[in-house]
Amino acid sequence: MRDYKAHSSNSKFLISYNINDKTFGISKAFSVEFPFEEKVYTSEAFYDELLNMGRLSTSFLIKFQKGIETLESKENEDIMDSEEALLRNRYEESKWYRIDFILVKEEIIITFTDITDVVTYTQHLVKLSQYDELTNLYTKSAFNQLVEKTKVPYAILFLDVLRFKVVNNYFGKAAGDLLLIHIAEVITNLLGKNGFASRLSGDRYAILLYTDKVYVEQFSETLLEEISNYDLGFNILCNIGIYIDRPEEQMAASLKVDRAIMAQTAIKGNFTKRYNYYTDDMTTSLVNEQGVTASMVEALDSNQFVLYFQPQFSHVSKKITGAEVLVRWKHPHVGMIPPNNFIPIFEKNNFITHLDMYVFEQACIFLRKCMDQGIPVVPISTNFSRYDVIQPNFIEDIEDIRLRYNIPVEKIRLEITESAVVEGTEFISSIVGQLQEYGYVVEMDDFGSGYSSLNVLKDINFDIIKLDMKFMSNEKSNYRGRTILASVVGMSAKLHMSIIAEGVETEDQADFLRDIGCEVIQGYLYSKPVPEDEYIEKLKENLS
Ligand code: C2E
Ligand code: CA
Ligand code: CA
Repeated sequence: MRDYKAHSSNSKFLISYNINDKTFGISKAFSVEFPFEEKVYTSEAFYDELLNMGRLSTSFLIKFQKGIETLESKENEDIMDSEEALLRNRYEESKWYRIDFILVKEEIIITFTDITDVVTYTQHLVKLSQYDELTNLYTKSAFNQLVEKTKVPYAILFLDVLRFKVVNNYFGKAAGDLLLIHIAEVITNLLGKNGFASRLSGDRYAILLYTDKVYVEQFSETLLEEISNYDLGFNILCNIGIYIDRPEEQMAASLKVDRAIMAQTAIKGNFTKRYNYYTDDMTTSLVNEQGVTASMVEALDSNQFVLYFQPQFSHVSKKITGAEVLVRWKHPHVGMIPPNNFIPIFEKNNFITHLDMYVFEQACIFLRKCMDQGIPVVPISTNFSRYDVIQPNFIEDIEDIRLRYNIPVEKIRLEITESAVVEGTEFISSIVGQLQEYGYVVEMDDFGSGYSSLNVLKDINFDIIKLDMKFMSNEKSNYRGRTILASVVGMSAKLHMSIIAEGVETEDQADFLRDIGCEVIQGYLYSKPVPEDEYIEKLKENLS
């Protein structure tokens, strides 16, 4: 009898195969670990027993036999690549073993090494990198890899929780985590086998939905509905961006997710439109945005921003009483760009204040020139964004510029949009008050555009309200609209605020406005915004 015991250790289990008589010798340790007896088996009996162990894949048996045959036939090659296999031992435990075949003279020694710990650890590591720890959804990179492998038609949904910061701040981080887990569960349950999902980061989720099986819209609606059912004493609202895959474009998965994100960004914070499809013009506008950002500094340095003037007329005397300065971008390649195409971008990238101060200075330069040349001037108003007024030196900077050109303060009016109150009513009220102490006339731009307009009237002491007709109903005989207008005009008179009506296009509108007590009109009816020289002509002709 061969003594095998010497070769066995706790986690190593050994058998030997005799090439001459084709028998297997089972070591004591092996017989303790596996359902074999400590004895010599014929090949046939050994393989029978091995099969009896159950749950053995045939591929393992084939590999095992191949391992032996290879060494049997090639006597000079004395070692085989090791195999790894998941085997069930005597105690019904499934464990990972590494199996090595070594040729020693007439024998092949086969060792089974328990590597379960190592394998589980590695699997754990793989799992860690594949699954998000908090929600157990896929991580971003695992998700992207799976997207690349998906061959059936699908859509990618991007879901973002609105005001998640509030949940964290107000209810605590633990409650925030629970909400994130809840959302993951809702997604997983709703998806079933129809796709997979990832928590990309924070409160941002990505979902791949097989569209041959499920309707995207129905899925999105149910998803939003079920998420909002979460009972926290605070409405949980989400926006979803949807990108329907176009296999012909062969894009990387991460770009597809980006497109879903763009679709979501377009409606972010929108409480009524809760999901949105990606369209190509979203990419175009992003490209535009990058183009605008890349060229704005040079544009400012090389005077590509030019001032247009839109005169304001008294509908009674037909005289010019003032003008609003409106900026245009005279781009050397693109041509004239209207402000709506770049102001919102400048507001996002913080360039707006540089532009507004430039426009303000150009307006002062213009006034100085007119006064020096004896051209009779009327007050001009310039626009300030709500991002300007929160600058720490806003008022000092304006005063510096005005004094540099020695412009009487009454020749200048400052327009601040009504939406500036989102910075805080008291704050804006104090800025307006300080400007008035310096003698400035301050105008509330875009009154009626939707930010709790009446409250703004009540709380902030503007000198002039600019009432934009585009915020009013277009219907000619709209009785309600006209009643509201009349009350606003009446109310502002009582509050010692005057009104300038903007966007007035028809005689009928102007007559009505005059009849309810609003005389000053700015709009296409009298004049479009015009370049400087044209404005000077109008001034000369009107005031002489
Ligand atoms: P806003 O301050 O409300 O300016 C009035 C806008 O209405 C101008 O558009 C003007 O051309 C247009 N408008 C005037 N009369 C009529 C009319 O009868 N009918 C119609 N349909 N439109 C009329 P514009 O020049 O395209 O300016 C758009 C916006 O861009 C401005 O709205 C203002 O918010 C912003 N903006 C313009 N210049 C500046 C600037 O220097 N700084 C900042 N921060 N914003 C500016
Ligand atoms: Ca304005
Ligand atoms: Ca306006």
